[in-house]
Amino acid sequence: MGQSRVVVVGAGNAALCAALSAREGGAEVVVLERAPSQVRGGNTAFSAGAMRVAYSGVEELQRLMPDLTPEEIDNTDFGSYPTDAFFDDLARVTEYRADPDLADTLVQQSMPTLLWMADNGVRFVPIYGRQAFKVEGRFTFWGGLTVEASGGGPGLVESLTKAAEKSGVRIEYGARVTELLHDDSGVHGVRVRQDGATREESADAVVLACGGFESSAELRARYLGPGWDLARVRGTMYNTGDGLQMALRVGASSAGNWSGCHAVGWDRNAPEFGDPSVGDSFQKHSYPWGVMVNAHGRRFVDEGADFRNYTYAKYGRVILEQPGQFAWQVFDQKVTNLLRDEYRIREVSKVTAPTLKELGERMEGVDAAGFVAEMEAYNAAVETGTEFNPNVKDGRRTTGLAIDKTNWANTVDEGPFEAYAVTCGITFTFGGLRIDPSSAQVIDTDMRPIPGLFAAGELVGGLFYFNYPGGTGLTNGSVFGRIAGAFAAEAS
Ligand SMILES: Cc1cc2nc3c(=O)[nH]c(=O)nc-3n(C[C@H](O)[C@H](O)[C@H](O)COP(=O)(O)OP(=O)(O)OC[C@H]3O[C@@H](n4cnc5c(N)ncnc54)[C@H](O)[C@@H]3O)c2cc1C
Repeated sequence: MGQSRVVVVGAGNAALCAALSAREGGAEVVVLERAPSQVRGGNTAFSAGAMRVAYSGVEELQRLMPDLTPEEIDNTDFGSYPTDAFFDDLARVTEYRADPDLADTLVQQSMPTLLWMADNGVRFVPIYGRQAFKVEGRFTFWGGLTVEASGGGPGLVESLTKAAEKSGVRIEYGARVTELLHDDSGVHGVRVRQDGATREESADAVVLACGGFESSAELRARYLGPGWDLARVRGTMYNTGDGLQMALRVGASSAGNWSGCHAVGWDRNAPEFGDPSVGDSFQKHSYPWGVMVNAHGRRFVDEGADFRNYTYAKYGRVILEQPGQFAWQVFDQKVTNLLRDEYRIREVSKVTAPTLKELGERMEGVDAAGFVAEMEAYNAAVETGTEFNPNVKDGRRTTGLAIDKTNWANTVDEGPFEAYAVTCGITFTFGGLRIDPSSAQVIDTDMRPIPGLFAAGELVGGLFYFNYPGGTGLTNGSVFGRIAGAFAAEAS
């Protein structure tokens, strides 16, 4: 049996993990990436690089992050994140729809895969800034999200690209794959357009890792529903559903939540697609410490339903459903010190005022009188007897409101007040291709594996429904990318 030839479509995290792993399996590997090299890396490059991983305690984290210093270990309570907890979080936030076999593979392989990435030159560090608070002089991690790639998403792309190139993977940019070469015996390559010319690249196996359809307004409206064409795109402009459509054309089975997506509160004045110089900082994720109001000045969601890791991905949709597709996040001086860095960027849509009345008047598009009445009712409903604690779900809540805030409810009464305008920013779509959880091979509509076709990353369906535990997208791409690459290398 000669050396197999694997074509990987896309050059984000899932694709590069697939390429590295196929190369490790002895295949000749070509990566075809649609974007020019200057804006390479897909959504991965826009991400913070946070990766959800199961770990038993600090000893296991030390294997992943050998350069943790003794001081860091002394000053930090890393806790643990057992595989059961990861599995349960995924099941809970997806309302028990996540495919248990895909979820099990993801959870069980999370640490082995990150260790493999570390062996390939990816450096991981603790996410002190966003996922830990200081309690009595010690950092305490919360919400199951503890590590990120050094340098965030751009750092991850850089180290994976370097590793792939070093291992002999050929990466072509500006190369848009338009079709799978397919016959009765399976997939044998791709049709690709590069520099205005179309050619065919033959292969023993193709790994599709070219993202969802979040960057196509037309497909968003078609699958996610009315209004989704109006969402801003948080990341790359290139994930227009090509891989999904070409796989469906050769008989692949669709799976998962095609009307669902990951979408967050995103600066109201952000551009249509992500801006690499701003990255993920258009997001506004500190709403659990304040309140959110719509054009009527009314609250519309329980801002404190859970840690932000478990609510942020579904609240973009709730904002999109508000009149005018916008909301304002409001904070008083008791909590502004807790606001994440993204609240202090230059490109922020922010107003401040000494009183709530003046704030309401400055919040564009908002019924100021309605806002003042809403805040009076809200402040009166806060149960101040329970201590505020941002590290735990503190149960400090309101009672008697149409929509109560069930944790971290503080009165909003200490000026000057700050308000931030947000709209819906879509991150990625949840619907995708059906794969075999143990091989990442694409399954057809007769439920049979398609010879020579594998998939990983955003375009795989079945894991995420309605919502998503923060940091799982990258881990998902890495785990199934690695598996897809290994099995693709065996195809011939
Ligand atoms: C602002 C932002 C912040 C995020 N933060 C995090 C985070 O901290 N942690 C986390 O886990 N997830 C995060 N995510 C989600 C995460 O980025 C994605 O889930 C993950 O990167 C998807 O990886 P992927 O390899 O499947 O797709 P991508 O990284 O998007 O790669 C797909 C690639 O395919 C290419 N492509 C598309 N069509 C074609 C074609 N026809 N031919 C060739 N190439 C094609 C695209 O150009 C792109 O480079 C974030 C996303 C965004 C937008």
